[in-house]
Amino acid sequence: MRLDVVSLAPEAFAPLLELGVIGRAFSAGIAELHVHNPRDHTTDRYRKVDDQPYGGGAGMVLKPEPVFAAFEAIPQLVRRRVLLMSPQGHPLHQADLRRWATGYDQLVLLCGHYEGFDERIRSLADEEVSIGDFVLTGGELPAATVINGVVRLLPGTVGTPASLEEESHSSLLLEHPHYTRPAVFREMEVPEVLRSGDHAAIARWRQEQQQQRTQERRPDLHERWLGGSKP
Ligand code: SAH
Repeated sequence: MRLDVVSLAPEAFAPLLELGVIGRAFSAGIAELHVHNPRDHTTDRYRKVDDQPYGGGAGMVLKPEPVFAAFEAIPQLVRRRVLLMSPQGHPLHQADLRRWATGYDQLVLLCGHYEGFDERIRSLADEEVSIGDFVLTGGELPAATVINGVVRLLPGTVGTPASLEEESHSSLLLEHPHYTRPAVFREMEVPEVLRSGDHAAIARWRQEQQQQRTQERRPDLHERWLGGSKP
């Protein structure tokens, strides 16, 4: 998978390359990351990437020309998807990560900055993506979030594919609790059933826990699960 990011803060992506399993996926060549700075595509002597909004108002707006130039300099693979990071986008879900990880060979992630971007930049994108109903100062953390979530799903990144399937949000139910040794820690005991060696009973207990947890924490997901819908 080829990942291209257009960002005014390329240094924000360096930590991804050193980040445990995600970092190893990059060094193993499962994914490659290229960051492009619109500032390197300016033509004026001040290397200006932002300007005041037409009609007045607070804040600066990302200019279209350097972003278009940076975008157009990116080599293009056939199965490519262009994602624009925006709090006005479609809220990100696990199903989106899965769709991008399996359906495309190249993702281009466009990061906004300042008050936002010139509206014409929207025309470059296939999809607009929000990581939640809150506002950050730039699209770098949202883009890094998408990259982490997508690379994690690529074959070879995570040891056993089963560990991806059992995860919360892969089905509609949240994951069951986990315990490791010691059996008693500060008077908190590991449930008896997990120590019983009875695999059928353990599977039943986990399934019950999943349902119970989802009902308590995410009644919205639980409703959909009861109704038989897909994640
Ligand atoms: N004034 C804009 C917000 C600008 S925030 C508005 O109201 O829509 C600056 C940039 O940070 C955005 O262009 C976007 O790229 C990024 N960003 C901020 N919050 C985000 C979120 N929740 N999801 C995705 N990107 C976000």
